Amino acid sequence: MEHPAPLARLIDELQRLPGVGPKSAQRIAFHLLKGTQAEAERLSQAVAELLGSIQICARCNAFTDREVCATCTDPARSDRVVCVVEEPYNLQTIERTRDFRGRYHVLHGALSPLAGVGPDELRVRGLLDRVRAGEVEEVILATSPTVEGEATAVYLARILKPLAVRVTRWGSRSGPTSTGRTR
Ligand code: ZN
Repeated sequence: MEHPAPLARLIDELQRLPGVGPKSAQRIAFHLLKGTQAEAERLSQAVAELLGSIQICARCNAFTDREVCATCTDPARSDRVVCVVEEPYNLQTIERTRDFRGRYHVLHGALSPLAGVGPDELRVRGLLDRVRAGEVEEVILATSPTVEGEATAVYLARILKPLAVRVTRWGSRSGPTSTGRTR
């Protein structure tokens, strides 16, 4: 039996989301169908408002709903250590699994010559500016362990070298020398 057109359309839209297969899409759609009109409106409003209200943090490039994000302004975190990641969602992973209390810098990508992603496509300049400003003592490179991530880490280590800042690789055997915890 075919789904009525509006239901089929919703299932089709849901299937476009990452990680949502046909079965999950159908389950979510039927779940929404059993809910109230108000619940459906709340969900669609949240989605609609997303792009209009979320911006990129002026300091670390994470997604935020204000000019400078809560992590950058948290007085309990240390300015001395900056952890560099590829994508905004990598922050959640590190926050969940590690004892890191420094700041972040999001590149919004990794070097990938084949895909045409060079240094100019990444948000590198802001990182250099932050290090040049003087408070940063250590930069932890937490790019992914892929070819692109490693190439990006090597590139960053090279351009950070003249700036007299300690550069470490996240997850390397020696590990970061500091977690940014205030002692
Ligand atoms: Zn920020």
